[in-house]
Amino acid sequence: MANVYNWQLGREMSYPHEEAHPQWQFAFVFNINRCIACQTCTMACKSTWTFARGQEFMWWNNVESKPYGGYPQNWDAKLLAMLEKENPNGQVWKGKKKAPESPYGEFKGKTIFDAAKNHLSKDGSMRALGYIPTEEEWQSPNIHEETAAGKIREKGQWGYSAELPEHRVWFFYLQRLCNHCTYPACLAACPRNAIYKRPEDGIVLIDQERCRGYRKCVQACPYKKPMYNSTTRISEKCIACFPRIEGKDKILSPDEAPLEARCMSACVGKIRLQGLVKKTDQGKWTKNPDNPIYFLVRERKVALPLYPQFGTEPNGYYIPPRWVPRNYLTQMFGPGVGDAIEQYSSPDRELLAVLQLFRATQQVIFKFKIKKGKKVAEVENTLPSGKRVAQEIFNDTIMGYNKLGKEVVSITVEEPTFERSKCHVNSI
Ligand code: SF4
Ligand code: SF4
Repeated sequence: MANVYNWQLGREMSYPHEEAHPQWQFAFVFNINRCIACQTCTMACKSTWTFARGQEFMWWNNVESKPYGGYPQNWDAKLLAMLEKENPNGQVWKGKKKAPESPYGEFKGKTIFDAAKNHLSKDGSMRALGYIPTEEEWQSPNIHEETAAGKIREKGQWGYSAELPEHRVWFFYLQRLCNHCTYPACLAACPRNAIYKRPEDGIVLIDQERCRGYRKCVQACPYKKPMYNSTTRISEKCIACFPRIEGKDKILSPDEAPLEARCMSACVGKIRLQGLVKKTDQGKWTKNPDNPIYFLVRERKVALPLYPQFGTEPNGYYIPPRWVPRNYLTQMFGPGVGDAIEQYSSPDRELLAVLQLFRATQQVIFKFKIKKGKKVAEVENTLPSGKRVAQEIFNDTIMGYNKLGKEVVSITVEEPTFERSKCHVNSI
């Protein structure tokens, strides 16, 4: 085991391989507050990559309803319970938040790599604590869809427990794909060295020639994103639409600038923004506040990693939902939840402008600039903490630039409207 630095945990941790970092890292921000669970992202992925025999139950992208839904079922609750058993009452965050290298404080508990140590003697091949889901757990990708309460099922039926007191109900949609982690558990667990992280963009891939279908990756990935194909008998996973990232789509990208993945560019709710962040040789994010992903994750910390305590340093980040109990969200996204929601509840001028970039273009935005516009409104907001603040809204214009420095989007804070003339054939 080597010692590596995990900034999401605010400390060093042990990992089976030495530090080796890509030049750029594929990363994304999802705004949970806006998702309508239309599953367009899910179908965009399925119709592009997983429509062959043996892939019937394979959903590289899925959107599940929390707290009860999950694909595979209970993937997170099961692993959290396993970690708790390894380290009772010890899975806690402490210490001061110190930007930039420990922005959420320090995680004092055990990661999946730490927790696997006790299992080495029993099973020499376990490098990360995990489990292989049953076939049944993979078979209902959208189980408990939109279930927060109600007597949908009879007593004794599976799922009856999905009932909450009527006035305190809540649920939210969690959009998931492979996080192309900085310290991938799938890669660490593979005895064939069939999994690798690309040095140019940090995308994690399974070499289909080398894989023998041992499913160690399925067992080790805490997010359960590698999947076994029982027809080909090898494992497969999200490939981050790498031909699009490489700018290989000649129609949409004639100048070969990187394009967002299919699930990102198809999003109807405009909740998704994908990018590439520049890394140093030591694995740090190069300071770049004009990159929208850097701005949201590192500068403003309004977007947070999913289950950072697992220890893989996932590169998917989420703006947490405002209406969900904080202790549930803190377990899921770490101690940054309160600050993130407070900011999102009344975004300042710059943050409001950057939020307009979500789904404004299919091209990956590497840089943004804001042109100031006139003040159009002033509203009073009550923050979750109870504090009342006045929010001034300006009709600023934000421009996004691709890898080649070309302007690919220009959008105002106020959505432009157009009134059709009465003589239009469809006018009522
Ligand atoms: S396409 Fe967007 S809005 Fe629709 S389910 Fe996927 S993430 Fe949510
Ligand atoms: S999410 Fe899972 S499959 Fe994807 S890189 Fe991380 S550990 Fe590997």
